[in-house]
Amino acid sequence: MAKCPMCGAEVEKEPGMVVGELFECPDCGIELEVIKMSPFKISEATIEEEDWDE
Ligand SMILES: [Zn+2]
Repeated sequence: MAKCPMCGAEVEKEPGMVVGELFECPDCGIELEVIKMSPFKISEATIEEEDWDE
């Protein structure tokens, strides 16, 4: 179980989810991305790919 970074809703890991998968928060509707499966971790999806200077 992970929490939506935007609204704090609890999001459950669903069977078949993979790292990098995008889905919508059932509560606030923002686009979320699966970061890690174990432990389950999600983050707000970055929709546009930009070049980040690191
Ligand atoms: Zn949310």
